[in-house]
Amino acid sequence: MVGVGCVEKRKLGRTNLNVSVIGFGAMWLPGLKTEEAASLVQHAYELGINYFDTARNYGDSEEKLGLALQNIKDGRVIATKIGSRTKKESSKHIKESLQKLKTDKIDILQLHGIDDETTLKKAIGTDGVLQTCKKAKKEGLIDFIGISSHRPNILVKAIATGEFDAVLVPLNIMTPQATEELLPVAKKQDVGVVIMKPFAFKVANMMTWRYKPSLSFFSEEPELRAFLGEDNHSKVRNALGFIISQDISTIIPGFKSVQEVELAIKAEEELSKPEPREKTFPFVELEEKYCRDCGLCLPCPQKLNIPAMLRFYDLYRMYKLKSWAQKLYSGLNVKAEICDSCGDCESKCPYEIPIHIKLKEISEIFH
Ligand code: SF4
Ligand code: SF4
Repeated sequence: MVGVGCVEKRKLGRTNLNVSVIGFGAMWLPGLKTEEAASLVQHAYELGINYFDTARNYGDSEEKLGLALQNIKDGRVIATKIGSRTKKESSKHIKESLQKLKTDKIDILQLHGIDDETTLKKAIGTDGVLQTCKKAKKEGLIDFIGISSHRPNILVKAIATGEFDAVLVPLNIMTPQATEELLPVAKKQDVGVVIMKPFAFKVANMMTWRYKPSLSFFSEEPELRAFLGEDNHSKVRNALGFIISQDISTIIPGFKSVQEVELAIKAEEELSKPEPREKTFPFVELEEKYCRDCGLCLPCPQKLNIPAMLRFYDLYRMYKLKSWAQKLYSGLNVKAEICDSCGDCESKCPYEIPIHIKLKEISEIFH
């Protein structure tokens, strides 16, 4: 079977792999029956998607993806992730992933969810998982090494080591932090950029799918419809338009159905038409002192989720999505009033955000 669709292909940094700008996030495959998963993946390939991203800890996603792609070799790129941090346990895990994916070689193996500096140091240290990845590369079991994180600032540090060929990071119209430092640094070092979470407001230490109320762009908020579009097609088109216009290689929405895949492909086709892309999606002017969600101000002695609060506040002020921001804030257990102005956080914030003053405003605005 050969993919027949003509989704735009982009070079994935120094890997020189040509990947479809719409990729396939396979984290939801465990919720589908094996045959459904196979036909979804194969349909996506037929439509022109050739980049498939999974992870060892996504239930049976690797097995299902392996089965779906076992007879498709032409131009396909498989990326998986390894959650072990140490050399000791990771070697066995790579072999298991190869077996599950029914392949002799993994195109890209990514260190999974490296969200803080301590974890990064451990993973790239002499006893860390990176050593196993490098050995596996020498043995021809993997082609390239990548790294995933919810925090662009951590990926900037990872790129500086020179060890990584690709990074995986959240980026979307309401989670723009990666555009500031990470994308320029990745471009300069010719590191491929893969984008996750294209359709949900993302805060690093919050599981998007577990947080209540919904962080998804598809939640039925009138404000969201006014901002992104009345129907799902407009929302997908506007959300993807913002990301596609950046220096990135591929976007991996987590697909659950053929309709979702087709919606994304249709949007990509429309966006590839020659009219100026700037006119197809809303821009928001970022203020200098907005929260980058770098997490450096944490932990707060009062257990406040400072980045989440500030990001909801930014959603309220910069994006004018006031009632949605209020709802998101209501889902936090510890509220801004608990702040005792100790100042711990502010001395650690590299962007000099007056955190405790903002928290006072937050406690007045949100309730
Ligand atoms: S100033 Fe407030 S938010 Fe900052 S560390 Fe102290 S209690 Fe936490
Ligand atoms: S308040 Fe400052 S240190 Fe804390 S997450 Fe935001 S940008 Fe980073």
